[in-house]
Amino acid sequence: METFLPITYLNDFVFCPYSIYLHQVFDNSNEVLYSASPQQTGKSAHTIIDSEKQKEKAQIIKGAYVISNRLGIYGKIDTFYVAKQKLVESKFQIKTLYKGYYYQLWAQYFALTEMGYVVSELCFYSIRDKKTFPVSIPGQKELEELRNHIRKIARFDFEQEMNVNSAKCQHCIYASLCDKTNIDHVYA
Ligand code: SF4
Repeated sequence: METFLPITYLNDFVFCPYSIYLHQVFDNSNEVLYSASPQQTGKSAHTIIDSEKQKEKAQIIKGAYVISNRLGIYGKIDTFYVAKQKLVESKFQIKTLYKGYYYQLWAQYFALTEMGYVVSELCFYSIRDKKTFPVSIPGQKELEELRNHIRKIARFDFEQEMNVNSAKCQHCIYASLCDKTNIDHVYA
């Protein structure tokens, strides 16, 4: 059986590779158990948006699974406006556009196009302050960069020594469960 990498790992790995290991360990638990408040807030905001969008009659695909066989990744897209050919990735609040965000969106884009959809516009949307951040359509260079990132994740040795960044740990939802640090996350 083929193994596919969840698209969310592309961003998680940039934040901290070890968070992927912890995600796997706690994957079968109730997500609410280890989701800190900002993540919960983000999910609530998504839910409100979800219900609003349901009222719209336009061609909108929300929260659908996409898969790319050539990249070996799968995951959910946020919103795809079919007629506008526009793919949007919403986050509760975007202060910085991290590389991991781009990897997620690129992966969604490549998966959608591989599935036969035409996507001509990409953007991030910050729900809290209603800001939109347009993103260029990725080309061959970005595809190769994404491939290398996926390979790096697939080959990562989670038992190796790693540098712990306490600033990140403070904002990591796994901090209270992580054996690499004694720091509590700020949401505790
Ligand atoms: S608590 Fe720190 S070391 Fe542990 S997964 Fe989170 S960011 Fe990584």
